[in-house]
Formats: sequence, structure tokens, C-alpha cells
Amino acid sequence: MNPLQPKNGIVQAALLLGLCLASGASLMAAPKISRLNPPSDLFTYNDPLPPIIARFLPGQRFDLNATIQPDAGQTIVGVKFFVDDVPVSGNITLVLADVATVTSPGSAVASPRPANTVVATQRAYTNQSPGIHRLTVSATQLPNGEGVTANGNFEIVNLGTAANGKARNIIVMIGDGMGIAHRTAGRIMGIGVSQGKALGSLNMDTFPVTGIVKTASLNSIVTDSAPGATCYSSGNKNNNNQMNVFPDDTLNTFDNPRVESMGEYFARTSGKSLGIVTTSDVFDATPAAFASHTANRGAGTGICDRYLDEFVGSANLTVLLGGGRKWFLPNTTIGSGRTTGTGGGPGALISDELATGWGVAKAGTVTVGRDLLADFKAAGFTYAANFSDLQALPASTTKLLGLFTFSNMNVAMDKVFGRRKISTVVNDFGFPDQPMLEEMTNAALNVLNKNPNGFVLMVEGASIDKQAHLMDTDRWIMEVLEFDRAVGLAKSFAASVQDTLIIVTADHECGGVNIIGSSIMPTATLAASQNGSVATLRDSVVGTYDLAGFPNYRVLSDGYPVTPNPDFKMLIGYAANGDRNEGWFSNNRPTQDTQQPLVGQSPLNTYPLNPNVRNQFSGYAVTGQVPGEQAVHTASDIPLSAYGRGAVAFVGVQDNTDVFFKMMKAALVGTDTTVSER
Ligand SMILES: [Zn+2]
Repeated sequence: MNPLQPKNGIVQAALLLGLCLASGASLMAAPKISRLNPPSDLFTYNDPLPPIIARFLPGQRFDLNATIQPDAGQTIVGVKFFVDDVPVSGNITLVLADVATVTSPGSAVASPRPANTVVATQRAYTNQSPGIHRLTVSATQLPNGEGVTANGNFEIVNLGTAANGKARNIIVMIGDGMGIAHRTAGRIMGIGVSQGKALGSLNMDTFPVTGIVKTASLNSIVTDSAPGATCYSSGNKNNNNQMNVFPDDTLNTFDNPRVESMGEYFARTSGKSLGIVTTSDVFDATPAAFASHTANRGAGTGICDRYLDEFVGSANLTVLLGGGRKWFLPNTTIGSGRTTGTGGGPGALISDELATGWGVAKAGTVTVGRDLLADFKAAGFTYAANFSDLQALPASTTKLLGLFTFSNMNVAMDKVFGRRKISTVVNDFGFPDQPMLEEMTNAALNVLNKNPNGFVLMVEGASIDKQAHLMDTDRWIMEVLEFDRAVGLAKSFAASVQDTLIIVTADHECGGVNIIGSSIMPTATLAASQNGSVATLRDSVVGTYDLAGFPNYRVLSDGYPVTPNPDFKMLIGYAANGDRNEGWFSNNRPTQDTQQPLVGQSPLNTYPLNPNVRNQFSGYAVTGQVPGEQAVHTASDIPLSAYGRGAVAFVGVQDNTDVFFKMMKAALVGTDTTVSER
């Protein structure tokens, strides 16, 4: 950034106003370009210096897009895009902007949208030439004939050369919300520490390469999972809540300017397959960031419809495992979540120009009454409804859909304690036979490895994040253990299938989590002291430094502790929390999950409503730093571990978009043995 050019809307607006006053009326009576995509500092701040915001692979497809505001009584015509002064050939579609306000260059403040403001889009542009390119858009308004031009830039990344072979398979493992403290807590619970030495390693600790990842999104230092995962999937910064698209000025959340994702690029250029495995609802932001283009991460009906209507074809999506059956059931069926408000409107998702431009299917006759499950089966997918189905898959299975719950799957603690028959939570949810993440990962690898061209598999431990939001400490720690078991399984696969690269990382940290120390009260004494006073439950319980000692979780052969409440248990604090009550004991039942379609019905409606009322009669009140009842994401960097072909490239501190380009270089060009300076 140019230090003389503050990125400050007020200064920019003042400069603009001064310019207008000095130049007289003719400058004012010209159309204005209020948005240019791909995003750039050159357009937004007139800053030609790095950072270059938008970067693409040679040949990676992305849309060119601009919002142009005419003066009153004028109409925009003759929109053209130029790259390095050469006109870009192809169709440009103009649609009327329909958001109420538009944001001007250099300003975060939106102004009322002038009449006849248009959004111009040119679909599926590609560029093969590495380097920084100038993007220009020009337009004219009629009848007065005034023109306008604006410049931005983008970079085509030079993948260079490599000394060694390519990675055929890529396994991207995302512990959602998993910061460094989440990993440490998982190690302390699942492995243990004695006299200062860890008693062993998490599987992810054994990976030879470690890096640090920066996570900011296009519009905030604090990302949510949608742009967080998009950076790995398509190499570009997106706004929060948006996946593989740039922001635009239309209300349709499926028409935004697109960036081609890894799965689409590989399917188109090398015939690889795409697999998605998650413990969340399959529509959730992290899985959907690998197979959707939308400005609304909440549009579950539309996102799941397009898995089949678009990504089975465009990205060779052949494995989809997780929760989320509610989107696949007709709205007349109990448990269905299909609504018009979540993208289930009749045929409204994809316009002709978008379908034609990207060469993908239109929405067709999408309705809330669609039986998407039947449609997947008709498209050749073998369906698994539970863990037993997953174990009994025919060896001939080449396409696999598994939907194990209505929405987010139950978490590791509740699944494991269900298998041990010491908890009825999974029965209460109506899904007693759910697979663990490593069991889903194993099934996915068996199917995907049949493609000789290779595959991309995204595996998400989703509820590390969800339970950290809820400050349900022992639940998210056990989620880390479940995730790490999946990491171990993937590592075994990569050890035998040697041209495989595995990345283990997160999309962001969640909760501002850290490890305070340990309880200085044995469990029985702590249980007897649950009277809710600060003096008892904080001052008499929290052991720091020497008093923390070494908690002793006894772990069973299933990989999880006998109890999350051993004597002198590990204690966790939160730096980004909402109001809550802390009692230190694990909660027998999870907090209500509003995504579950049957959450309001017995017995789920008897579960704790939120973290603030949970433990209100057994804990002491902790005032949060953020409004609401949940903890939030933080802007901290996150750890990354890499294993297998091309792993060495991931050492060092890197942007989350760098991770994409390093993975793609490993697959497209080959791998380096030396570490280059960034
Ligand atoms: Zn989250």
C-alpha cells in the first residue's frame, strides 16, 4: 500500500468532491463505476503497488464484472472489458442492479443506488500469461454520450518449474476453527504429558512440515468459514458468507462473478474426482466451498441441488458424506429443510447467460418438493444412510452419497459414548448408527482411489468450531481427537499411495481458546462444590502454573478418554466469548442445534438452549467480551501441517490463498525439494 494514499473513505470522498468542484459540471455528468471485479487495490484505492488482491492459475476461469451508475435520465451502453489494453472478446451481460445501495470506490459507506445502475458481467475469462495484468472497463451513457473508464489489476501466478514428480491426489483436511490451542488441548487429553514431556504425538504432529497461515477475508480481519475455505478451494479472497464468488450488486445470490474452484479446474483439465467428507451438514460453508458458487452460505436447498445439477458434472463430485439429509427430502417429508428462502425457488438459481458462459446445467424445475435423494440415486450414487450401510458398500461403488443425520452430525463425544452405551444423545436425535470421521474418510478414499487420474478429497472436522462457538469444552476437544484419527487414516493411505499430498489445517481459530491449567480439586470434591459461587468454582478450582500439574486422562482403545472429567482435569478459557456460566464439568447433553429440523420437539427441546443458560444452576457467571450467547471466530493465524508429495512447500508463514497455489503447483507442475524464500 502506498503510504501517501490512506485507504480511508472520508479522505477519498473529499478528494473526489474537490476534483468535481474544480472541474466543473462536465465531470459530474458522467457515469460512475462503483465496483470492478476481480477486486484490486488499484481500483479501490488507486494503489498500483502490491498486494495484488486477486490471483489465478494460468487458465483458471473467473468472471469479469463491473457496476456502473449513470446520471439521472441516462442509460448505460457499450460496456467493454480490456486486459492490458486488449479488448476481451465474448458476451457481456447487463442486468439492472437491484440492491438498494451501492458502495463507491474507496468508501465503506454505501449510497442510494441511482436509477438504471447496471451490473455488467463477462463469464469464464481465462488468461495463460503469468504476471500482473491491468483490467480496464469502459462504458458510455446515452443520450449525452459521456464515457467512463476504470482500471484494476489481477495476477496470473507463475507456477514455475519443479524438480520432482507431481502429486496425483490431494487430501485437504480442515479442522474447522482449530487454532494452536485446540491442537494442544487435544494432545493433552488424547496423548498426555508426564514430567514435561508429551507421551506421544497426535497424528498431525507427526507430519514433517509445519507452517503458519494468515486468515483474513476480503472484507474483514475475522473470516467466517465460507471465505476461509474458499481460499483453499479457489485461491481468492471472498467476502464473509460467500463461496467462490466476488461480491456484486444484485440480490440473486447464485449469479455473482465466479472463480473456478480446484475441483472444477481438475475435472476440466485432468479428469480428477472430487470428494467431500464432513461431520457437519453437507451444505455447510466449508464443504460447500469446494462445490458451490454462492453469495449466501445459508442457501442450503440451492447449494445441495447444485451439488447434483452442476458439480457432479463440472467437478466430478463423486463422494459426498456427512449430515444434512433435510435438504434431500421433499418438503412434505418429516425432517425436510427444503424452502424457497434457502434457494428452492422454481428454476430461479442460474440464468441462461451464466449456464451458457460456464457450460453448466441450469436449475431446471427445482422446487421445495424435489426428492433430491432419489435424484442422486438415479444419477448412479450408492446411498448410505448409516454406518452399517457404509461398512456394507458394494465393492463396485463408484459414486457415494452418505447422509447420516438430518443436519449436523452428532459430535464425537456423543457418538462414542453412544457406542459405549453410556449416553442416549444419538438416540434422542434419532440417528443411533452414525459413522466416525475416520470411517467416512476410509469409505471416501476407497471410492476415490478408483480414478487413475487422481482426486481431491476435502475432509472436515466441523464441530471443533461448532462446539468452540458453544464453549462446550470437552466436546470440541474430543472433536479434535476424532479429526486426528481421520488424519491418521489419511496418512496411512498416503504412505502406501505415494503421490499423495495431505494438508492439515483450519480455516480460522474459534473462541479465542486457550489452556489455563488444571483443576486443583479432585472430581468428587468439585462435584460436591457446585453451588455456583465464584469463590468456590473459580478461586478453589483453577490451578495455574505449578498447581496445574499434569492432568491424567485415561484413554480407551477407541481413542477417547474414559471420562472427560478425570481428577485434576484440564481447564479451558475463552478470549472471544459471549456471556456464559462456567462449572468446569463436561455437559451430559449438547446445547440445542437450531439447524436441526426437530430441535423444537421432545426430547431435543429439553436440551440446554444456549451456553448462557447452560450450567446456570451449577456454574458461575462469566461476562463475555462479545454480544450474544456464543463465542466467535478470531483473527489469529492458524497452524498447518503437511505430509507427502510436495509437503515441503508449506513451511513458513503464508496467506491462506498461498496454500491453494502451493497445492496446485504440486499437482500441475511438480514438487520442490528445497524451500524457497517468500
Ligand atoms: Zn465458526
